[in-house]
Amino acid sequence: MSATGSKLIKGATGDWEMVIGLEVHAQVTSNSKLFSGASTEFGGEPNSHVSLVDAAMPGMLPVINEACVRQAVRTGLGLNAKINLRSVFDRKNYFYPDLPQGYQISQYKSPVVGEGEVVVELGGGDSVTVGIERLHLEQDAGKSLHDQSPTMSFVDLNRSGVALMEIVSKPDIRSSEQAKAYVTKLRSILRYLGTCDGDMEKGSLRADVNVSVRKPGTPLGTRCEIKNMNSIAFIGQAIEYEARRQIGILEDGGVIDQETRLFDPNKGETRSMRSKEEAHDYRYFPDPDLLPLEFSEAYVAELKADLPELPDQKKARFIAGFGLSPYDASVLVAERESADFFETVLADLADKARDGKLAANWVINELFGRLNKEGRDITGSPVSAVQLGTIVDLIGEGTISGKIAKDLFEIVWQEGGDPRALVEARGMKQVTDLGAIEKVVDDIIAANPDKVAQAKAKPALIGWFVGQVMKSSGGKANPQTVNDLLKSKLGI
Ligand code: ADP
Ligand code: MG
Repeated sequence: MSATGSKLIKGATGDWEMVIGLEVHAQVTSNSKLFSGASTEFGGEPNSHVSLVDAAMPGMLPVINEACVRQAVRTGLGLNAKINLRSVFDRKNYFYPDLPQGYQISQYKSPVVGEGEVVVELGGGDSVTVGIERLHLEQDAGKSLHDQSPTMSFVDLNRSGVALMEIVSKPDIRSSEQAKAYVTKLRSILRYLGTCDGDMEKGSLRADVNVSVRKPGTPLGTRCEIKNMNSIAFIGQAIEYEARRQIGILEDGGVIDQETRLFDPNKGETRSMRSKEEAHDYRYFPDPDLLPLEFSEAYVAELKADLPELPDQKKARFIAGFGLSPYDASVLVAERESADFFETVLADLADKARDGKLAANWVINELFGRLNKEGRDITGSPVSAVQLGTIVDLIGEGTISGKIAKDLFEIVWQEGGDPRALVEARGMKQVTDLGAIEKVVDDIIAANPDKVAQAKAKPALIGWFVGQVMKSSGGKANPQTVNDLLKSKLGI
C-alpha cells in the first residue's frame, strides 16, 4: 500500500502516519425485514412492526427475504466486488436485552460479497482507491428505552431483524479527509443503487472507525475501534483526536491496548468502552434454520445488467461528452438528483445543443451557491432545470450578457416565470446595435481626456472604459462589441 495522500502528523520523535479502516453498517432499503414479513418503516409506534420471528417466539423459523439478498448483490456489484455464489448465515451469540433471539444472524466466514474497491475523490482532482474486504448481510437489533420510566427499561423491537449490510474496508485510508470522503462516496454509490437511503441522522448508515498510527514504512500498529459513528463530521474529529492520543502514548514509551472506544461529540474526545480482554467470544456457527445462499452466474449477470449508471461512469461521461473538468463533473454526480438536474438543463430544448461548460458553471456556481446559502437542496430549487436551461440559452445566443443573466436568475428565483418572456417584457436584451453603443463610447471618451491619454500609454486601462460603457448601458451592451469599438477609437 502506498502512502499517497497521507497527511503525516509531526510528533516529538518524528512523523507519524494514520492508518484507518471502516466497518460501515448500511440499512438495506426493503419493505420488509431480512427474515420476516414485518415492515421496516421508520418511526412507527414502539413494537408495531414486530412479527413472531422478530420477537423470537419459540419455534419460529426465519425465511430469507430475497429482496434484501438482491440489494446486497447489487451493492457488491456497485462496489466492483466479487459476488460469492455460495454464502452462509451464522449465529453470532451474545446476550443483550434488545436481542430477543440471544444471537444475531450474520455472515462470518462466507459472506455474500468478497473483495472490491471504491475510488474516492479528494480535493484538487486527486483520488485514492480504497479496497473493500467484504460485505455481509446481518440483522439489526432492537432498541432499549431507558428514559420512559424512572424504575423500568422498555424495549422497542421495530428495528429487530431489519436487514443491514456491513461493508468492511481494508486499512487503506490515511487521513481523516480521506475517511470522510470515503463515507461520502460510499453513501453516494448506495443512494444511486437505491440499496440504502444513507440517512445518517436516522441511523440508516453508521460506521465503526478503526484507527492506528505508525512511522511511515513500518508494519501496521495496534488499532482502536471507535464504535457507532453517525456523522461524517464527527468521524473526522474522532480520527484526529484518536491518532494524536495514540501518538502521545507511544511517544511516552507506552503501548496501545486494542480496545473499543466511544466518541463524545461534546468533548471532542474518544474514551474506552471495553478492552480486547473483555471482547466477546461469539461462538459463531452456521445457523441450522437457514440453508446456504446459492446463486447462479445468470442471476448475478442479470442484476449486473440492470444496475443504473453509477457516479464514476456518469462522471466519465460528463467529462468526455460535455467537456467538463473532473472537478465539476464530480460535484455534479455526487448526488443523483444534481446529476439529473444538470442533464435536464443540458437537454436540447432549443435547436442547438447547449454549452456543457456554461451550463455546469451555472448549476454549480449560481444555483448550488444560492441553494447552499438558503440551506435548500436541489429537489426544492425555485429555479427549475428548464428555466435554467433557457437562461443558459439566452447567454449562449448573445441575447443577454452574463451580468444581466445573474439579475434574470434572481428574478426567476424570486418570482418564477419564463426567462425568455421576462427578458422581452423587462427590456433586458443585450444591445448589439453598433450605433447605440458607439454613441455611449463617444460620450465617455469625450468626457475623459485624461484617461484617454493614460490608456494610450497603458492599454490595460481599456478595462476602465469598458466598465464605464457597461455601467451607462445598464449592463446591456455587448462586452465584445464595446471592447472592439474602444480599441479602434482609442487606437490601441
Ligand atoms: P474485527 O472484525 O475484529 O473488527 P477485522 O480484521 O475484520 O477485525 O478488521 C476490522 C476493520 O479494521 C477493517 O475495516 C480493517 O480495515 C481495519 N483494520 C485492521 N487492521 C487495522 C490497523 N492496524 N489499523 C487500522 N485499521 C485496521
Ligand atoms: Mg470490528
